[in-house]
Amino acid sequence: MRTIYDSVSPEYIYPLSKVDIARVRKHVPPSIWETIQYIRFGFSSNSSHAGRMLGHGRNYRIRVNFCVKRVEGRLESPLVCRQRQYIENVKRYGGKPDLAKGVIMWDLASAKQYAMYVLLHEIGHVVYAEANLPGSRLRCRTSKEEDWCDAYSARLMQEVG
Ligand SMILES: [Zn+2]
Repeated sequence: MRTIYDSVSPEYIYPLSKVDIARVRKHVPPSIWETIQYIRFGFSSNSSHAGRMLGHGRNYRIRVNFCVKRVEGRLESPLVCRQRQYIENVKRYGGKPDLAKGVIMWDLASAKQYAMYVLLHEIGHVVYAEANLPGSRLRCRTSKEEDWCDAYSARLMQEVG
């Protein structure tokens, strides 16, 4: 598994470091971890997904599309969509969305928590795919799968601390 950070200008911060990824690794079964080709942190303001998991042959690729920007001593990120579930998750992990301005205010600890939630949710999709449909074709993600991945992420966050 490789960790990739897309380059961004100096006022941007990726909340999760390679040290954080090493901590996560201890709580993910090696059989799952080995199927993940890479975890890529990037930033695209026109994506409506904070995280993506894509199958690639027998392997998986994870993308976390989240970083925060220093603006006048505060941290903020763009609101990437207005879906209720997304807004609720942002608030659950400490983000303060400003719907009028289309931005979310963060403190670093909250941004870390949220990035961790997104990453573990995507790892949840890998676990789900391997457990339920080994070697299967592409299929639509159901709300049952999304709920399962949220629960997986919440449980792993307790373990990773
Ligand atoms: Zn998902």
